[in-house]
Amino acid sequence: MLNKKIQDALNAQINAEFWSAYLYLAMALHFKAEGRSGVANWFEIQFKEEQAHAQILMNYVNQRGGRVTLAPIEAVPATWPSILDAFKATLEHEQKVTALINNLFALAEQEKDYATRDRLLWFVSEQVEEEDNCRTLIDKFTLVGDNGMGIYMLDNELASRTYTEPSPLATAE
Ligand code: MG
Repeated sequence: MLNKKIQDALNAQINAEFWSAYLYLAMALHFKAEGRSGVANWFEIQFKEEQAHAQILMNYVNQRGGRVTLAPIEAVPATWPSILDAFKATLEHEQKVTALINNLFALAEQEKDYATRDRLLWFVSEQVEEEDNCRTLIDKFTLVGDNGMGIYMLDNELASRTYTEPSPLATAE
C-alpha cells in the first residue's frame, strides 16, 4: 500500500505529465497551423510520450493499491515566436520536470518506499534523454538561423520521427 505522502506526490506528477502532454499538443497544433508539419509531428510524438508517462504512473499507483486522482490541467501557451523559441521553452520545461522527478525520488528514499524509488529510476534516465534531445534540436535550429532551406531541411528531418511505446508500458501485462 502507498503512503499518503507518496500517493499525493505521484498524483501531482501524473498531473504534471498531463500538463506536459497538453503543452506539446499546443505546440504541435501551432506548428501545424504555421505549415511546419515536421516540427508538428515531432511535438505530436512528444504529446504521446507524455501521455505514456502519465499512464506508467497511473498503472503503478493502481498496482500498489492506491487511488489516482485526476486534477484539472492548467492552461498552456498557444503560440511561439519561432521554432527555436519553442525548443528553448521545451528544454526549460523538461529541466523543471527533471527537478520534479528528482524531488519525488528523494521523497521515496526518505519514506523508505523502495518500490516507488525503483519505478522512478526509469524516469530519471528518461529525463536525461529528453533534455539531450532538446539541446540537439536547439543547436540545429540555432545553426540554420533564418535560412529558409535549412529550416525546410530540418522540418523534413523531424517529419521522420516515429512513436515508440516506452519500455514500462511495452512490457506491461
Ligand atoms: Mg514526461
